[in-house]
Amino acid sequence: MSSLWYAIALMVDVATNLRQIMDRIAAAAARSGRATNEIRLLAASKSQPVNAIGAAIAAGVAMIGENYVQEAAQKKEHLSNAAVEWHMIGHLQRNKVKLALRLFDVIESLDNLALARELDKEAAKLNKCARVFVEVNLGGEGSKTGVDKALLPSLLEGIGSLTHIHVDGLMTVPPFCENFEAARPYFRELRELALKLGAMHLPNINLKELSMGMSQDFPVAIEEGATIVRIGTALFGPRV
Ligand SMILES: *Cc1c(COP(=O)(O)O)cnc(C)c1O
Repeated sequence: MSSLWYAIALMVDVATNLRQIMDRIAAAAARSGRATNEIRLLAASKSQPVNAIGAAIAAGVAMIGENYVQEAAQKKEHLSNAAVEWHMIGHLQRNKVKLALRLFDVIESLDNLALARELDKEAAKLNKCARVFVEVNLGGEGSKTGVDKALLPSLLEGIGSLTHIHVDGLMTVPPFCENFEAARPYFRELRELALKLGAMHLPNINLKELSMGMSQDFPVAIEEGATIVRIGTALFGPRV
């Protein structure tokens, strides 16, 4: 009884949170003269239990983001019937590529050519094309993942010669800012990079997606052009 009660309360909470987030997405889109349907919500569900993810899907979430291959594998066993798109948003190790390609529809965290080559090789074996975003480290923080923006053009050029990988966009996690407005220049910079480098005319690179903005700063990211916002705590509450 108490676990059923808990499940119902969770569904109500997540659905209520989702409604509020969608209102804020619509408001940010309106402020910046964009159509709301240009912006998609990805539920960042690391450390959240399967029933919380199930509640999000029931409430209408269509994209789930996980940070760890193993965690995603365990969760997907319980959610295998759900028609949602799975995105890898955490750092991907080369020895996990094979499994990651089976589990995820999109890898958002590609940040080096060795990893791109591995993805290309394994995707070829599966007779498919790996869909990826390139993660850019805009703060220049050595501790963070993501390719340095100075190295982004040569990384894209390298990917341009591969045959089983397609770059759909760019992703970034800006340096932590106390004040959400402080993240704005990073979001703007990612959009400008996508505009500039999208003109490289490589056949397998189309930088139309911008995955940027999290619980704290997603309205600002939308004002600066985000097409995907990755929301964790604002949707699910604190991580477990
Ligand atoms: C955890 C995480 C998020 C969501 O963060 P919240 O602040 O909880 O919304 C978004 N992107 C990445 C890459 C994450 O690891």
